Amino acid sequence: MRRRKAERRMWEDELWKAIFGDEIDPNAIAYILNISDEVVESYTIADLLKEIRRFFGFIEKGNMDAAADLLDLKWRELPHGVKFEDGIFKPVAWVLGRYDKFWWNFIRKVMVDDWAFRFDRCRYCGRWFFKTKSNRIYCSDSCRGTHISIIRYHREKKLRDAGVVV
Ligand SMILES: [Zn+2]
Repeated sequence: MRRRKAERRMWEDELWKAIFGDEIDPNAIAYILNISDEVVESYTIADLLKEIRRFFGFIEKGNMDAAADLLDLKWRELPHGVKFEDGIFKPVAWVLGRYDKFWWNFIRKVMVDDWAFRFDRCRYCGRWFFKTKSNRIYCSDSCRGTHISIIRYHREKKLRDAGVVV
């Protein structure tokens, strides 16, 4: 029991680094979209989880105005401005806590790297995953393999039932 707690602690530390670090790890976002609420012990993560789920819920329903409003509110709360550095104009934020830092990083990923549309649900298992290629529809090779063989099985069964030899 004691060991399990220590393991969970480590896991949480890693997740925090992946969410609140200088770069957000997109797999960590997919991970927290997939875990159930009861597993979340930390209030900061639970709060964030609710907001991220709301955001992707709007995206799934095609309610882009609501999704934009959610980000807009967060963006306004961040003290930010414009700076000229390394030959380009760039946005800067005087970010206070890690919660702010998350939204600052996340909103820019949505605007610059299209993150709103790069998280999707696996066509086989329904779990969220981050798309490295735009045409990916499965979260893993194993889901892809399983789904394809199920489809093949049903197709062949249909043909067999219809009297066609396969
Ligand atoms: Zn899957």
